[in-house]
Amino acid sequence: MMKQLCFLLLVFALLLYSSTAPAEKIQTVRTMEKQDTFNPYYSRTDTTKLNLSDAEWKKVLSPEVYATARQKKTELSFTGKFWDYTGQGTYYCAACGNALFRSDAKFASTCGWPSFFEEVRKGSVTYLPDRSYGMVRTEALCGRCGSHLGHLFDDGPPPTGKRFCMNSVVLDFVPDIQGTRKMQ
Ligand code: FE
Repeated sequence: MMKQLCFLLLVFALLLYSSTAPAEKIQTVRTMEKQDTFNPYYSRTDTTKLNLSDAEWKKVLSPEVYATARQKKTELSFTGKFWDYTGQGTYYCAACGNALFRSDAKFASTCGWPSFFEEVRKGSVTYLPDRSYGMVRTEALCGRCGSHLGHLFDDGPPPTGKRFCMNSVVLDFVPDIQGTRKMQ
């Protein structure tokens, strides 16, 4: 009789545990995603255009990426992680994962921001006239998500004569796999 009672108690305890465990698990995953600013829109293969509100971006981007990508903040020159970086690979939009530049198109610029002479493919970057701060400039935006990347100038090196002056904080870099030339 005692054995049966113990068995019943064990079954009851297991039932109780299994009914509460999944909820706890979900809560843990969500908490982790929140801490890591999980971004469900980020993809290096999906080229579907994104049209999200700033409120939605704020939920999924880190404060640093959000400040430049959505509020057009310019990082201080010579402070970004890529201004003098020379690794071989591909640069992607840090907000959405869109492929933007190949390292082959990066050049050593004295301006203190990562600079490229051409985008990785037509349409990967889009442009808007920018008349802020009393200057006439061309704003460069991500062709997939519309995030602010930096500006485009006409004082770059051959063959294009263009200078894509970017903010490191809105770039993700993926190195080439050794011996291969990999793009998106
Ligand atoms: Fe983007």
